[in-house]
Amino acid sequence: MMVQSTSCGTYHPGHIGDPALRGSWYEIDLGAIRHNYRQLRACLRPEVKIYACLKRNGYGCGAAGVATALASEGVHGFAVASILDAISMRSAGITGPILLYPGTLPTAWPTIGALDLTISISSIEELERWRARRSNIRVFIKVDLGFFRAGATPREAVRLLALASACRDVRLEGIYAHLSELPTSKPSDATDQFTRMLAILKEANARGIRPDVAMISSTESVLNHPEMDLDAVDPGALLVGLSEATSPIRHLALRPALKTISTSLVAVKHVDASLGPTPEIPGFHAGMKLGVVSFGWGDGYPRKVPDKAQALVGGKRVRLLPPAHLEHLRVDLTEVPDARFGDQVVLLGRQGAEEITHEELACLWGTDLVGLYGQLRDHVPRIYT
Ligand SMILES: *Cc1c(COP(=O)(O)O)cnc(C)c1O
Repeated sequence: MMVQSTSCGTYHPGHIGDPALRGSWYEIDLGAIRHNYRQLRACLRPEVKIYACLKRNGYGCGAAGVATALASEGVHGFAVASILDAISMRSAGITGPILLYPGTLPTAWPTIGALDLTISISSIEELERWRARRSNIRVFIKVDLGFFRAGATPREAVRLLALASACRDVRLEGIYAHLSELPTSKPSDATDQFTRMLAILKEANARGIRPDVAMISSTESVLNHPEMDLDAVDPGALLVGLSEATSPIRHLALRPALKTISTSLVAVKHVDASLGPTPEIPGFHAGMKLGVVSFGWGDGYPRKVPDKAQALVGGKRVRLLPPAHLEHLRVDLTEVPDARFGDQVVLLGRQGAEEITHEELACLWGTDLVGLYGQLRDHVPRIYT
């Protein structure tokens, strides 16, 4: 690390990923991610490729750190929606294929070329716009099988495939889709969508334009529909240990990657009458011992502190008090008389005999497990264990 000198002596300017600086961090269990990957690998045919979906910065766990662990396990490639995640992975030395889901515009082509990324194309217009910018592009055609999101409709898909495969400046590497997760989706929809994909592949085959890689299966379908493996799969949530499948056909003993959300007491005091009247806010009381933690709604805590919100201090459950601030929250430390400035505060995970589970925190935050991981912020340092 660079050390600078001033008239006050030498000092370290610090590294923004250093958990000691603000006393807040996420502890990520890379062993769990490797374990989840191995569980998945073991149940797929050996020729089925895995594109690890590491969108939203690896579901909050750090795309670069997670990708490095998976690369050492031999994963075939990666898929992300944000080119920022692709940049962080390439900067960390990841050399394998990286597929960009829709989300990048042709204005980003210099970076795409420099990092050798594969783009997704959903329409003839997109194909032409990219070709106008750049030749020799790596392309996956994206199909919408009934999600009503990005992707060519099944009717247009074969025409798009035919056009792309006729372009000598396009390297057509694959065709893929993501199964519908609309609130109205029924279990039978997955089979209907798979049937649509098979029809496209059949026609492409007949015309000699089927790309080498066809892929539609992610977490829920890889667990429930082994017949949908095709040439490759692109699960994401599964790799960080999350699945909502209740009775899957493939039973994988998944382990969650996020072990703790940890922060620290940055102020501790006894409330006395000199502060004026105690605010009439639930949880505040005269003579209480008050703590301030260095974690706020800007760090992903819900802006409206849930009524039952708790943290662990000194191995005990303590109440978090509203309101939340951008970088601070309050705790009632009255029941933890030994709590001191600098002590660790656990928002998720274990401390002593107590534990705040994923399920408890997701419920408090009014979301599901993937939603909880999606709340993890990029600026909070990660400790990999
Ligand atoms: C999110 C996403 C995935 C991975 O989904 P999981 O349910 O997390 O496995 C795969 N493909 C696409 C296109 C996605 O957007």
